[in-house]
Amino acid sequence: MAASKVDLYEILGVARDAGPDEIKKAYRKLARQYHPDVSSSPDADERFKEINTAYEVLSDPAKRQQYDQFGTTGSAGLGGDPFGGMGFSSMNDIIDFFFGGGFGGVGAAAHRRDYQPGEDLHRAVHLRLTDVLDDHSVELKLDRREICETCGGSRAEPGSQPENCQTCGGHGAVRQVRDTLLGRMQTTTTCPTCHGTGYTIPTPCKACRGTGFQEKQRTIEITIPAGIDDGNVIRIGNQGHAGRGGAPGGDLLVSISIEPHEQFKRDGAALYVELPVHYADLVQGATVTVPTLTGEEQLRIPAGTSSHHIFQLRGHGLPRLRRGGRGDLHVRVVVAIPSRVNKRQRELLGELKGEDLKASQKAGGILYQLLNRK
Ligand SMILES: [Zn+2]
Ligand SMILES: [Zn+2]
Repeated sequence: MAASKVDLYEILGVARDAGPDEIKKAYRKLARQYHPDVSSSPDADERFKEINTAYEVLSDPAKRQQYDQFGTTGSAGLGGDPFGGMGFSSMNDIIDFFFGGGFGGVGAAAHRRDYQPGEDLHRAVHLRLTDVLDDHSVELKLDRREICETCGGSRAEPGSQPENCQTCGGHGAVRQVRDTLLGRMQTTTTCPTCHGTGYTIPTPCKACRGTGFQEKQRTIEITIPAGIDDGNVIRIGNQGHAGRGGAPGGDLLVSISIEPHEQFKRDGAALYVELPVHYADLVQGATVTVPTLTGEEQLRIPAGTSSHHIFQLRGHGLPRLRRGGRGDLHVRVVVAIPSRVNKRQRELLGELKGEDLKASQKAGGILYQLLNRK
């Protein structure tokens, strides 16, 4: 069992009887060398974690004593001790033993609190229905958090370096191991010195006061695609607030609302319009003028068209969002009823009604049957 054991003294490169200062010195040198932010070595993360764990154990007299006793001696230690001679065959064993299982197998960066994706920004854009006919450019003013241009987000004044936090040894959390009547109790709390980041900034960047961010006012132009619908949300990647610790920035979410049109109703790419026409035009047929969203079109109404008949004007609807082409304009013809009539109109209507009924009677038409039903 001796061969595969992890040796914390070896990790720090110090002798078994090294004093606290020697251990500290060795640790600092290695931590600088393997800090994931500076080292390009592929196993820097793993090494950095090992170095920190070794230091945390060996710099604490109580833990160091426990480690010496149970970890590597291979002897039974004190009589009857259940851990006697068991040894630690992996780093995770050591972490589990001294700190609880929380950090076993987790990369150094994952539990540090300085990695945080940026928040999304939200904006609303109001359009008229005619704006939907083509791609539409809109300028948006954004107040957003951006990475500090001076320190590049490191929070340290250019030329200075972040230092590994002395309180937590870079873990971002501190643990307390207490022996109680119920056994060994472990608690983990966020490091009070570095607030969980694992490092401290001795000389904060002046431009951002050590926050790593700057508030910026930006005006950006976005293009709203033709055919956009009310309630659609456009997501523009990475135009939100900046992320922390190299995490991705948030997105910009643009909610579209479209003012209802007083004349045209909409369903996707289809438009609907109601067209009042004269009774005579439906009876005899006529060519009428139909309003469209961009102008007007002529519509041929055949003789004998009923009121509320719907005609389609192909391609006079709205553009189809991201599919190309345009929908149709649906035109519903409706008999226009005058709200008041003069004497002459009344006479003519009376005559017309009489004629209509006579003709209907001759033809056995439905109008005559309905009107004479008692
Ligand atoms: Zn800065
Ligand atoms: Zn700390």
